[in-house]
Amino acid sequence: MTTRKIQQIIDSVPASDGADVRLRRSLGRADHLRVDPFLMLDEFSSENPDDYVAGFPSHPHRGFETVTYLLDGHMLHEDHLGNRGDLKSGAVQWMTAGRGIIHSEMPQQENGRMRGFQLWINLPAKEKMKPAGYRDIQPGEIPTVFLSDGKIRIVAGTYESTNGPVQGGSTDPVYWDIELKPQGTFKTNLPPEHNVYIYPFEGSVEIGDRVLKTHSGGVLGSGDKVEVKAGADGARFLLLAARPIREPIVQYGPFVMNTRAEIEQAIRDYQNGVLAV
Ligand code: MN
Repeated sequence: MTTRKIQQIIDSVPASDGADVRLRRSLGRADHLRVDPFLMLDEFSSENPDDYVAGFPSHPHRGFETVTYLLDGHMLHEDHLGNRGDLKSGAVQWMTAGRGIIHSEMPQQENGRMRGFQLWINLPAKEKMKPAGYRDIQPGEIPTVFLSDGKIRIVAGTYESTNGPVQGGSTDPVYWDIELKPQGTFKTNLPPEHNVYIYPFEGSVEIGDRVLKTHSGGVLGSGDKVEVKAGADGARFLLLAARPIREPIVQYGPFVMNTRAEIEQAIRDYQNGVLAV
């Protein structure tokens, strides 16, 4: 048994996307700051509607999955197929863009707090052109397990014998939201072939002899165990893990493919109105 250590710390930085939505970008703020198969992790958190109200008007995606986890607030999404869903506090939208989706993601509130995450998970070459699809996961479908030192919400993967609503797939993702009391500890086993990323969004955590401050993510090294200790103010963090794809990545904005030619095809398809059919 080997406990994973922090291999790299990735500070998130303020950024904006969509129609000037203010956010913090962690993974993906530069091409080399990814953890295969995770391409990007954005955190949005604001009490000021000017930071989010213009949302993400109609835009395309091809070649990967987007996972939106809303902690506070309320967001409407609509796609080119006529699907429409309202994401509430505590809910998750797990979208597989596959060959193409064109959608909008628009906050439905004019005041109050909006807080959540969007994670982009790559798809292997053989799945990049599969039909688009998505799942709206209601808060009640996401199990919470109470720990001696806190609690864990299981969006994807299995913690001990509790299954999250998203299971398996080619990258076999783990997506946990873990809250620990001051100095509380959390230990788990994860498959050694998975890559692991830990992102504290409240308080700080200690892993081995290194500390991750709020908004600074840690890429963990090899091993089969993870041990996290919360700092003096407690902590809340995302634990993300998945099986790496190990294929070349060519990204152009919202298109993530394996080759330059496939990106050019995606751009042509979008211009010709056949990206998403
Ligand atoms: Mn989108």
